[in-house]
Amino acid sequence: MIRKKIVKDLIKIVGKVDVLTEKEDLVAYSYDGTTSWVHEPDVVVFPTSAREISKILKLADKERIAVTPRGAGTNVSGGSIPIQGGIVLCSTKMNKILGIDKENLTATVEPGVVLMDLNTALAKEGLFFPPDPQSFLGATMGGIIAENAGGPACVKYGVTKQYVLGLEVVLPRGDIIDVGSQTMKNVVGYDLTMLFTGSEGTLGIISKAILAVKPLPQATKTIVAAFDDVAVAGESVHHILSSGVIPSKIELLDNWVINSIERLQPIGLPKDAEALLLFEVDGVPEAVEKDAERIEGLCKRHGAKEIRIAKDKAEADRYWLARRAGFAALFSAGPTIMAEDVTVPRNKIPDLIRRVREICEPRGIEYTVIGHAGDGNLHPSLVTDKKNKEHFKKAQEAMDMIIESAVALGGVVSGEHGIGLEKKRFLMKTVPPMALEIMKGIKRLVDPNNILNPGKIWEE
Ligand SMILES: Cc1cc2nc3c(=O)[nH]c(=O)nc-3n(C[C@H](O)[C@H](O)[C@H](O)COP(=O)(O)OP(=O)(O)OC[C@H]3O[C@@H](n4cnc5c(N)ncnc54)[C@H](O)[C@@H]3O)c2cc1C
Repeated sequence: MIRKKIVKDLIKIVGKVDVLTEKEDLVAYSYDGTTSWVHEPDVVVFPTSAREISKILKLADKERIAVTPRGAGTNVSGGSIPIQGGIVLCSTKMNKILGIDKENLTATVEPGVVLMDLNTALAKEGLFFPPDPQSFLGATMGGIIAENAGGPACVKYGVTKQYVLGLEVVLPRGDIIDVGSQTMKNVVGYDLTMLFTGSEGTLGIISKAILAVKPLPQATKTIVAAFDDVAVAGESVHHILSSGVIPSKIELLDNWVINSIERLQPIGLPKDAEALLLFEVDGVPEAVEKDAERIEGLCKRHGAKEIRIAKDKAEADRYWLARRAGFAALFSAGPTIMAEDVTVPRNKIPDLIRRVREICEPRGIEYTVIGHAGDGNLHPSLVTDKKNKEHFKKAQEAMDMIIESAVALGGVVSGEHGIGLEKKRFLMKTVPPMALEIMKGIKRLVDPNNILNPGKIWEE
């Protein structure tokens, strides 16, 4: 429990309205996008500048108080859960877009800027920030950078780290540093920008970011291909990519997800299809037309039973809304949802899908597979109930086997959601001990008193 004196000191730093201590407020900051982790902080603070963050961290370091950085709290790895209590440092009030530089294709933002707001402002200049986590209506740039988030458009455009040019970071002892630059290229020493990107709020608080942005494509087209078998849909992904067509997006929805979406929000998806592949191609109009035709032909050749090409933007938007509703459908399907984030080489997607089926069906576990198939990044998800100990244990064992299968196929335990609390137990198994020691050494160097987001990533 934090002493009253510390709360008074925090109020002196950020002001009374930006410090929360009431029980009902603390509950709101005790959870995130996961369904298995809850822990209340002692206090929530909303700094509005790097200087305020610095003062908060100096105080916390001196008093050895845990500080958990938080944006919108939409992460699905337990990253923003204040698992050791202490302070939640929420950057949502630092939400200014500081500049858009059209000549150099960059944007400078504070960490609390919501991705949707950034893209709305960029669109007025004919620009966009390509990495598109499907939580873009709420997720903040600080959280997106700290998780190195991805999304459907990463097939063609890459993930967040490819767009972070420079950062201002407040280190756990209060020092404010600038890493990277505003230039497209920079090989001056070790790449510290890349180190902080994806560090899950354990190395520093991001207080400003310089981002690369891209011109909006002139045209886009959405194609939906329905298959009788999920694994066959998975095979089509690498057939298409190796043919030379690079769609901007390739998403996979299985029959469970299709029907859940249709129950929640009917839009006319083929309910009898075992799987859908949802493609988007973008670029100049002539190329977009040709790519769409090639995808149609390739899908037919590789087993699609029905193909739809969206006639207009309204129809395309409906399909992409359905894709986004997939996660909502999933998380409302039961009391506890285990949604994983494994990534395999793209030609191993069918093997992984078959393994998920072989593991879950004999155990009678309700499961689904949804995900960014174009990146080999799937979200095998199991419906369970933490209170039903027997079922939960069975589901946990099944998930462990799925993750081990993904790693055995040459994959990784997380493609975009991060380790947080959720995947700590797999880290030891999949990261070489020496690499883990280097990571821990870096953490000790920057955060010797282990105050910043303690209890995350590493096995206890
Ligand atoms: C419906 C839904 C769909 C999603 N789809 C995707 C998807 O397609 N792709 C994907 O990658 N993720 C997805 N996510 C996960 C999530 O939205 C992302 O991880 C997102 O990046 C989190 O942003 P946030 O602002 O909510 O951060 P939070 O959840 O608040 O925090 C995430 C992590 O960042 C740290 N952090 C937050 N702010 C800062 C800061 N200023 N400085 C340092 N560290 C900080 C936190 O400590 C935590 O470890 C989805 C989540 C939901 C609920």
